[in-house]
Amino acid sequence: MKSNLIRRGTTLLGLILVIAVAYSLGRLDERSGSGVAQAQGGDDAVARATRAQPNRDAYFPNSEDLGPGEMRIIACGTGMPSARESQAASCFLVELGNGDKFLFDGGTGSDVRIGSLEIPYDLLDKIFISHLHTDHWGSFPAYFIGGWVAGRTVPLRVWGPSGSRPELGTAYAMEHIQKVYSWDIEGRTGRLPPDGGKLEVHEFDFKGMNQVVYAENGVTIRSFPQIHSLDGSVGYTLEWNGLKFVYGGDSYPAKTFVVAAQDADLVIHEVMMAAEDWITKYKFPPPRALEVGTQIHTSPEAFGKIMSLVKPRMAVGFHFFNDFDTVSSVESGIRSTYDGPLTLADDYLVWNVTKDDIRVREVVVNENAWPPAGVFDIPPMDESAAADIRPSDWTQSQALDVTDVDQAIYDRINEKYNLKVPMRMKQYFEGQKKQ
Ligand SMILES: [Zn+2]
Ligand SMILES: [Zn+2]
Repeated sequence: MKSNLIRRGTTLLGLILVIAVAYSLGRLDERSGSGVAQAQGGDDAVARATRAQPNRDAYFPNSEDLGPGEMRIIACGTGMPSARESQAASCFLVELGNGDKFLFDGGTGSDVRIGSLEIPYDLLDKIFISHLHTDHWGSFPAYFIGGWVAGRTVPLRVWGPSGSRPELGTAYAMEHIQKVYSWDIEGRTGRLPPDGGKLEVHEFDFKGMNQVVYAENGVTIRSFPQIHSLDGSVGYTLEWNGLKFVYGGDSYPAKTFVVAAQDADLVIHEVMMAAEDWITKYKFPPPRALEVGTQIHTSPEAFGKIMSLVKPRMAVGFHFFNDFDTVSSVESGIRSTYDGPLTLADDYLVWNVTKDDIRVREVVVNENAWPPAGVFDIPPMDESAAADIRPSDWTQSQALDVTDVDQAIYDRINEKYNLKVPMRMKQYFEGQKKQ
């Protein structure tokens, strides 16, 4: 009996010893691991408190390499023609692992989103417009001129459809938007890189089905007709490196879309709010809600029907006010006709697409971002052109002479950068004194 007790006691002591040794060995093993393993290990308080947590489920612009076979898509506008803080209107950026970047539409408010991504404007020189509603190109002038001011040294290239008459086409719109902004463009000429203020416009037949509108550097972009308010609404497919992206613009459900979007990886199509929300929240009378929400555009149920025919790796719905009290009816409408992968897009969502995976995350931006330096050298200012473009003598005669205080700025900058930039207004005032 006694010996049995002693034996059991010894066994218990031995067991405790074994556990203690195993535990301390485990701790030693943990400490010899990498910082990442320690941070994720869960029981090293100092590591958790002081080391970076690498697996953040968010995308911070310019913080990740784009793989050579990878496509990254960022929603820069997913809303409606009526401006709102949380959603700009239609705009998607596509970035490819070969360095190419493409904008699809530039709806109202999207210029701010584009700027927040801190991409040099030299690299944002291609935009494909689906149709000429302001919620698809309302930010175009701001992006065109703002990108020029921010250092774009190359022309902005624009693609868009024809209309049923010349004045309803993209070329007319681009010619006249430059006329509307004559004051702005003329006043900057000579001071900014000359090519950055130019547009290179490619209008194509809106009826073309899978017509190639762009083929460079291994990237092929095709257009196809969509059905919207007037003739001249199109969608686009982009194919590169075995990946296919589709952007539908605005449309009533179209057979052309189903054909064009076959075998695609990521497929973006508009989807409208439920008819009830058009009436109660958007304050549309019921007949207009039905017409706009289902006949000019695509209802949630019809969106689902389209995606059931296309069967993409990821279906993306956009173009509705995506709120806590609207999204569930959009989703339930879609789910009545489609059960595949789905993102109901909001601004600043990002999709990383490879052949193996589609990852969806939020983009986190710096609200105070500045435009980054361009990738090409900025040509010197054309001083003769800049000197010619100025207010008239009458307007200049109203100038207050502040050259005495500005001289210190010129001296400081000229010394710092080893320059001899003359002060234009000093020359003006000295000329006046001589008269
Ligand atoms: Zn539209
Ligand atoms: Zn629209």
